[in-house]
Amino acid sequence: MATIDEARQNIKELEEEGSLRANLPPKANEKFYNPIEGAPREKLEQLRDKHLRHIVRWAYEKSKFYKKLWDGAGVNPYEIKGYDDLEKLPVWRKDQQRKDEAEFPPFGSRAVKELMPDVPRLYRSTGTSGNPTSYLWTADDFKVIGETLCREFWSGGCRPGGAFIDFFPKAKGQIVPDWMERVAENIGLFYYAEEIFGYLPDPEASARTQIELGKFYTPLCTMMTPEFLMTLGRQFEKMGEEAPYDVALPGGMPLTPKGARELLALFKKPKYFVNIMSSNDGVVLYGCQPASEHGREDLHESEDLYAIEVVKPGSSKRCSMGERGELVFTTFFNHAAPLIRFGMEDVFENSYSTEICECGRTNKRWSKLCPGRLKDIFKVKGKELLPWDVEVVVGDIPDATLVYQLILDSWDMDKLKLRMETLRKLPDLEYEKEVKTILETRLDVPIELELVAAGTIPTQAGGYKTVKVVDNRPK
Ligand SMILES: [Zn+2]
Repeated sequence: MATIDEARQNIKELEEEGSLRANLPPKANEKFYNPIEGAPREKLEQLRDKHLRHIVRWAYEKSKFYKKLWDGAGVNPYEIKGYDDLEKLPVWRKDQQRKDEAEFPPFGSRAVKELMPDVPRLYRSTGTSGNPTSYLWTADDFKVIGETLCREFWSGGCRPGGAFIDFFPKAKGQIVPDWMERVAENIGLFYYAEEIFGYLPDPEASARTQIELGKFYTPLCTMMTPEFLMTLGRQFEKMGEEAPYDVALPGGMPLTPKGARELLALFKKPKYFVNIMSSNDGVVLYGCQPASEHGREDLHESEDLYAIEVVKPGSSKRCSMGERGELVFTTFFNHAAPLIRFGMEDVFENSYSTEICECGRTNKRWSKLCPGRLKDIFKVKGKELLPWDVEVVVGDIPDATLVYQLILDSWDMDKLKLRMETLRKLPDLEYEKEVKTILETRLDVPIELELVAAGTIPTQAGGYKTVKVVDNRPK
């Protein structure tokens, strides 16, 4: 059988088994995007292990990268029977991907050569932390990415008959706009790409268009970074108009509890904001209504389509329960460039539950949102912290805008240098003292604080993301 036909056969099986929803769009009153989200545990585990065996065999037989990696590590991929065996395979990381793509241009030896004529588009990383890397998907594989995303957007409140307004820029191989088009198509949402570049030149005119669309489409939905959603919310406030959105999902960075409260104040219509965690590789962890309403951080995992593990950084061994480690990701459906035990270099806590959730979903729930990059871990007087730890505290400071910067200048600092925006009129020595005390008490490290007026800290090109960590540490 031709390689592409084998891949297609597998995607067809996913559809027949119910992992890939076929009859679209769903009805607005359906509980989940896909009923499989509430399937009995035994069924989910059975599908998970079956799909895992398939992709491991596929990678070994079709991708030179895995053949070399696993032979070199002396492991027998045919012995991987399920999730518990997955730990036997080595974890590999981005630097290996960059090296491989440089050695075997343009896409590296991981790419399944026979499938390249069936890869319709090139997606690339932004390259903020090194050379951009590629993401390759056949059209069929991309359908499954769409499935994982739709489960999340449905959980967040998107329903047929609504509209989705997309602010993500499409430049330089960005995958997000194509995701969103797929989500809109599957769920039955009217799609409009305003992009950040359509908004910025005339925010008021853009806001008026959004309000008009909101009169015709319910629910009106969007997803963007929490920072941008705040800016957008304040724009409507400035115009004396109610923000027209029924669904506004935070993308790129999860919401702190304070962030969620602020968004709820600016956006009156949504009853909750569901957290999400996603990457260009196709991982999508998603929150649910009861978790959001009760201030829990729970994120659901589509176990029938991918696997999450938390390993000890720099190793291939899983962490014990409750331990912080590195997030490791395996997709079961990327045939063009399989991704098996890929170390994401993100920090994650190994805390999860397989008990049925209040929302009715039976898939695994990760209970501790612990976002941050391994490289962003910094030390103050021997204590390890992440920007997220600071962000949560900043969120509780009165009149803070949630825009801040950490200035790291050594590998173990005497005090933490923090530049933070506030809505207060400066200088305000009393306030400064109060802020410093809150930070030092909660983080338990000395702080060197610089308060600046709201809007002072510059955003990156595109204007929807701040550089939160200024890393001047010696290499
Ligand atoms: Zn739930």
